[in-house]
Amino acid sequence: MPMKLQEYVNLSQLTTIQLGGPARYLVECSSIEELIEAIEFAETKRLNWIVIGGGSNIVFPDRGYDGLILKMGLRGKVFEGDGYIVHASIAAGESWDDFVKFCVEEELAGVECLSGIPGLVGATPIQNVGAYGQEVSETIEEVTVLECSTKDVLKFSGEECGFGYRTSRFKHVDRGRFIIINVRFALRKFGAPVIKYPELKDLIESGRRETKINLSLVRSAVLALRKKKSMVLDPGDPNSKSVGSFFVNPLLDENQFRTFMERADELGVSEKVPIFAVEGGVKLSAAWLVENAGFHRGFRKGGVGISANHALALVNFGGTASELIGLAQEIQEKVLNIFGIKLEIEPLIFE
Ligand SMILES: Cc1cc2nc3c(=O)[nH]c(=O)nc-3n(C[C@H](O)[C@H](O)[C@H](O)COP(=O)(O)OP(=O)(O)OC[C@H]3O[C@@H](n4cnc5c(N)ncnc54)[C@H](O)[C@@H]3O)c2cc1C
Repeated sequence: MPMKLQEYVNLSQLTTIQLGGPARYLVECSSIEELIEAIEFAETKRLNWIVIGGGSNIVFPDRGYDGLILKMGLRGKVFEGDGYIVHASIAAGESWDDFVKFCVEEELAGVECLSGIPGLVGATPIQNVGAYGQEVSETIEEVTVLECSTKDVLKFSGEECGFGYRTSRFKHVDRGRFIIINVRFALRKFGAPVIKYPELKDLIESGRRETKINLSLVRSAVLALRKKKSMVLDPGDPNSKSVGSFFVNPLLDENQFRTFMERADELGVSEKVPIFAVEGGVKLSAAWLVENAGFHRGFRKGGVGISANHALALVNFGGTASELIGLAQEIQEKVLNIFGIKLEIEPLIFE
């Protein structure tokens, strides 16, 4: 079957932040053969190309994208194993939250705290998606990829993926080298839910009464917390027109932390800074830095702003990609000038 190429497709319809002009070409790929055909088309025409999933962690420019968008459309789920560990092999084009919901219903533990995260399964290893005390790296046992230059299909074990806090080899060293086509998770049948994130723990404890804590209860609590912060996609909530958190929480080693605390002392805020101990150093709250650099929740600049419900979510209130990038840069500069911390941007930005 010939490739179904679409032309001049509006990228704002393909991204959760609803920004970006037209894409010159777009093709939905539902098999490895179609992915290869699309890459070869781009190579022949000397076009840039990029693969997208749910468009929930990407910002395209107002002028659009003068290349080929490969929309991930590979589907399929296989669950194997009837003991404690169940292996779930999920194609990259499956909806992440549908997968989580299914696991919770089937009492498969391991991804329950990641309820409500938009996007597709294939993107989750890229930034080692995480929330409420859980990350996909904890359950990913294998990632299958198409190597774009050789068109070979390769498999990486979880250890080979180079996972870290909001990162992996796919996000940095091997960016653009592979297309993720399948992810295999190891889940625990009737396993206990992970309840270590303080806010989640408090919510569950407060409403507990006699109710048994199970995966469904955790999923409901996570969804409730996310909804309050406009961190679930909701067409009725203008604050959810975002890419989720725009900045990553900074990780500091001992020396960087000492320098930061000296600055915080000078500013008289050292007692108030939220600090989380992590392996090899500390994690700061990017949300705290943003708010304390003068960008409060609900802040507006032109058609963009900060969510009224979450200081880390930059929101499109009817503006442009350049306004959004301008605001992000302003925040980065202010945070750097005041606290000496360079905030790293989480989503992929095309300028
Ligand atoms: C309201 C909201 C809440 C969010 N909450 C969270 C959260 O709690 N935790 C969290 O970690 N993230 C969160 N996110 C960010 C985002 O949902 C995740 O990063 C998600 O995994 C992105 O999936 P996607 O399919 O939409 O990827 P896209 O946005 O389509 O793509 C993101 C990047 O991955 C690449 N990519 C996508 N698919 C593939 C593939 N198959 N192979 C190779 N490269 C690929 C793209 O080229 C791009 O660079 C949130 C976003 C929103 C809008």
